[in-house]
Formats: sequence, structure tokens, C-alpha cells
Amino acid sequence: CGITACAGPARENVVDTLLDDLRNLEYRGYDSSGIATPGEDTVSVVKREGEIEELAKTLDVVKPSGSVGIGHTRWSTHGAPSDANAHPHTDCDDRVAVVHNGIIENYTALREELTERGHTFTSDTDTEVVPHLVSEHLADGRSVETAFRAALDRLDGRFAVAMVVAGSDAIYAARNGSPLVVGVDDGRRFVASDVPSFLEHTADVIFLEDGDVVRITADDHEVTAIDGSSVDRSVTAVDWQP
Ligand code: GLU
Repeated sequence: CGITACAGPARENVVDTLLDDLRNLEYRGYDSSGIATPGEDTVSVVKREGEIEELAKTLDVVKPSGSVGIGHTRWSTHGAPSDANAHPHTDCDDRVAVVHNGIIENYTALREELTERGHTFTSDTDTEVVPHLVSEHLADGRSVETAFRAALDRLDGRFAVAMVVAGSDAIYAARNGSPLVVGVDDGRRFVASDVPSFLEHTADVIFLEDGDVVRITADDHEVTAIDGSSVDRSVTAVDWQP
């Protein structure tokens, strides 16, 4: 029920920040949590059923690192709470990792279609179709951004999603019926379900609207419509206290 994402300076490890920013979303309720950071060829995913402290204990042992990453607290709608159903979810090659809030109404049809084309699934969630859709478009030679838009185009329902891809220092996110905000800091950008997630870092916020897609890197952010056309979203300084 919570998304967080951070793009920080190269060589800095974002994992502790993701964990803190997930803890700041605990008030929304959840049954499992997880994070993903992109490496050169694959994404590293660590996820656990239960308290965020379970995730923190595992991260202490596994010690993933990366200057960008996504995190999630799950309130399950499709598939019981479990390690396998926790987010992030990946494609068959572990190149694409996605976190998602909300419900993808047409996931059964998409899953059948993808299964027919040779995809195998490792969870019972509606979410898992998204990384598989993206990976098909990447395999067809499309750019990460085009692949993300093409996948979003197939989804029915109300959702917010965020994605990292191996070999890329950009994070892509989109909102269609579930809240999503962008945090703008000096040399650091955030995406989250709600402002308290990153408020200890920055109070400069872009409130996304339904149909918005955002691409963030440490130094830049760009908001567009799902079809790629430009939209104008300004940065607001909120006076909330962390
Ligand atoms: N429908 C997704 C699931 O059950 C996301 C739930 C959520 O919003 O956390 O995994």
C-alpha cells in the first residue's frame, strides 16, 4: 500500500534511504515489504512477508547496493501475504523490477496471453504481468521509456507503479487512480505514494495527476502524459513538518 523510490548521486548507496522512506509509510498499513536496485545486467530484489524489520534484517545479510532503487509496502489484494507475492516483481530475466499499488483489473487475460508466449510467473499477484509486458517490448528493441508506456497502455484499473531496469539509472513511475508524488532535492529525486515518505529529505513536491508518467534521475525529472505528450506540473514547497 506504499511506494517509494529514490535516485541519488552515483556511488552513493540508496538502500538505507529506501528503508527509512518505507518506514515513513508504515502508517498506511501493510503485510509485506521489499526493495529493488538495478545492477548492470539484472536487478537485485529483496522482499519479505511481515514487518519492515524482517526486510531490514535480511538486507543486513544480503547487503544489496545501488544509487537508485524502488521500495514497496504491500496490502495484498491478489495473492496471500507471502515472500513470493511481496513486491517488487520481475520479468523472467530479472531485468525489470516493478512495484505497484492498486488493482490491475485485466491481469487474468494478460497473464494468459503472456503464458502462451512462454512467460512463467512466480507469484499470484496481478502486478507480475507488468514487468513481463515491459520485458517483451525491450526484447523487441524498444527503449525503456517506450516499453514502459506500451505496458501501461495495456493495463485496466486503478493503480500507481514504479519501475527500475538493469543498466539504467532512471526510475519510471505512473499514476492512474492511486496517489503518487515526486520529491525534488538537490542532486536527488524521489517518488512516493505520499509526501511523508521523503519529507525528511525535501519539502519540494510535484503532485502528479491521473495519467501522468514521470522519469527521475538524481539531477532531473520529467513529467509527461502516457502517450508521451508534455504536461506542465509545477514544484510546490509544502510546509508540512517531518
Ligand atoms: N494488487 C497488488 C497486490 O495484491 C498491490 C496491492 C497494494 O496496493 O499493495 O499485490
